Formats: sequence, structure tokens, C-alpha cells
Amino acid sequence: MKRKIFILLCCLLAVCTVVHAQKSKQEKAPSDVSVVYFCSEITPENIQKLYNALNVDLAPDMKVGLKVHFGERGNQNFLNPELLHPLVDQVHPTFVETNVLYVSDRRFTKSHIALAEEHGFTFAPIDILDADGEKIYPGDDNFQYCKTVRTGDHFENYDFYIIYSHFKGHGSSGFGGAIKNVGMGMASPGGKMAIHANNYPKVNTPDKCFQCNRCANQCPALAINVDDHGPMIDTTKCIGCAKCIAECPLKLFSPDNTGYDETRFLDKLVEYTKVLVDHRPMVFINVMANISTTCDCSSRAPKPFMRDIGAVASTDIVAIDQACQDLTSKAYGCEHVFQEVNHVSGMEQLQYAEKLGMGHTKYILIDVATGKQISLEEAVKQTEKEK
Ligand code: SF4
Ligand code: SF4
Repeated sequence: MKRKIFILLCCLLAVCTVVHAQKSKQEKAPSDVSVVYFCSEITPENIQKLYNALNVDLAPDMKVGLKVHFGERGNQNFLNPELLHPLVDQVHPTFVETNVLYVSDRRFTKSHIALAEEHGFTFAPIDILDADGEKIYPGDDNFQYCKTVRTGDHFENYDFYIIYSHFKGHGSSGFGGAIKNVGMGMASPGGKMAIHANNYPKVNTPDKCFQCNRCANQCPALAINVDDHGPMIDTTKCIGCAKCIAECPLKLFSPDNTGYDETRFLDKLVEYTKVLVDHRPMVFINVMANISTTCDCSSRAPKPFMRDIGAVASTDIVAIDQACQDLTSKAYGCEHVFQEVNHVSGMEQLQYAEKLGMGHTKYILIDVATGKQISLEEAVKQTEKEK
């Protein structure tokens, strides 16, 4: 018993140490201004340098999850895993991800891990957070949409997370950075469905069903009944786990986008992120390379439409995405680059996150090479040299 209490106290102390390290770093800037570290040259050494600039104080026995994106099969834009080698050698994290909602290698744990290894993520253990099921947290009282937040049940196995994000465009969210990598990237498939659409799937062309009953047998809520007219979902029983979407060999189930609107999607994304960042300490690294209009879930993503703009790190999830939006827009020569290329600015992510108290849209940029403050213009100028 005494031993258990001692271990518990050590864990609490370790988590507090990390949180304290993050807070003390932020206290150097005025209270409504966060610090974002910047480097123009994207190299493995600089990714490590950015992380070290955050001054994270990890206890040796802490379990660290490094949230990455392994890249869809066929995608050519996902970040080269080699960029993470020195950081992995230093921190000894586990690569963490969640299974996706649509049917692909990344929908199922075994094929997801095999694809990750094929893509070069071989130098740290891999953990698919929802491999064994979901962890469901309640939403905050002031949320507009999410009563619950669904992640993988391995989420709580880690004491600390490094969120490593590829900053690029996204058709629905305008851009995808740290907020998207946590909110969507750490949601279970059922959580992803709840963010993207309504909580229940819909059945398309039920007359094609050949009554194999696989969906009904796999449904954990016994919510599906199959007869001569195809499958019927009892929405009073359905728990929105999205299993049927993966199970049907004819892909007759899909998320139901009825009533979908862009702002609701972005706000749900932020609400998911808020709950997850509140449950575990996290720091953030964004890399602005291979900037395409769409994300790394696309099997044939369009080619990058602009040059690489370097990498940034922060303890503030709002400031880091705001800095990336500003740097890419400045380099592209407009105010909101993703409004130009995707017709969705994505700024609602930042505004709602700030309103929920998740961080600040005001920030200062520090050049990690010199330790000195640098303007947006100076940072963008440096990236011209890196072309
Ligand atoms: S989403 Fe899950 S609970 Fe709902 S019908 Fe499909 S398998 Fe059943
Ligand atoms: S898994 Fe697909 S084909 Fe099989 S019974 Fe269900 S809906 Fe019909």
C-alpha cells in the first residue's frame, strides 16, 4: 500500500514538473502574449533544438507519446520521419496515432502499423491509441456541441505528449496544424465521425446489401438489424462508434453529413482538442514543409503550392497555429493563404480556441539559432534563402 502511494506521488510530481516547466517559460512574455520558437531550416538537428528551446523538464520514468501522422498509402507529402531521429534518441518516446474513419490501411491497427513501418517510422515503438477501444470524457459545460469526447483508451497511458504536426491545407478546416492533430488526430474513429458529421452513420444504397450480417454481428450496441431491405440502424441504441463503416465489405455505411456546416466542424475540432489538452500536458512542434491544399490522409495529395517556411515550437497550441498561418500567408503574399487556396480560412479554430482559454493568438517569434526576437518579415526573408 505504502509503495503504491509513493508511486502515485512520484507520478503526480512528475506531471507537475512538466506543467511548471511550461508555465515558467510562458511567464517571460506578457500574460496575453505567448512565445513561439522559429527556425527557417528544416533539419533533424533543428527539430531537436526547437523542442529543447521549450525547456521541458521530464522525469526519467515518464512515458512520452510523440503524436505523428504516418501518411496515407500513396501520399507523397507527409513529413520525413528522419526529421525526428535526434529527438527520439533524446526523449525515447512512443509514436502514437489513432485509426482513421474511412476504409484504408490506416483504419485497422495491424495494417496501420505495417504502413507506418513501410513509411520509415521504425526507430520507436508504435502505439495506436484506440487499438483496444475508446476512452470517453465529458465535454465542458460551456461547449456548444460536444457532450462527450472520444479518444483511444491508451490515451491515459502517457504522462506527456509531444504533438508533432505537419502544417498544411485541409479541405474542411482550411489548414491543419497542432489543433487539428490533437482534436481529430487523437480522436477514435467514433470521435472522428462525431466531429466530421452527425453522431450516427447513414446507410447508402441499402438495396445492394447481400445480408452477410457482418455489420450487425460486429455492432457493439446491437443497433443494426438486417432484413430483405438491407440494414437499419436503431439510433436510440447506436453509440456512434463507426465500426459498421469499417466492417461492411460493400462500404454501405458512411458518416451522415446532414446539416453539416463549416463553423460547426471547426468548433467541434476545438472542443475535442480542449478536453485532450486539459487531460495531459503537451508541447507542440509544427513543420511548414510540403504545403499542399490537402492533408496527409489523401492518397494522392496535390503537389505543394508554395515553398517550405521552416518549423516552430511552442507550449501554446493557439499561438503556434496562429504563427504558422501568419508565416505562410506572409510568404504567399496575402492575409489568409488557405482562404485563397481552399476557400476556408480556418481562422475559427484559433478564435474559438482563444475564447475557450486554450492559448493566445498574440505571440512573439524567437529565432532558435540566435535566441533573439525576430519579426514575421525577417522570418519569411530567411525562408527565401532556404529555397
Ligand atoms: S456506429 Fe457503432 S453502434 Fe452505431 S450502428 Fe454502427 S457499429 Fe453499431
Ligand atoms: S455488412 Fe454490408 S452487406 Fe453485410 S449485411 Fe451489413 S450492410 Fe449488408
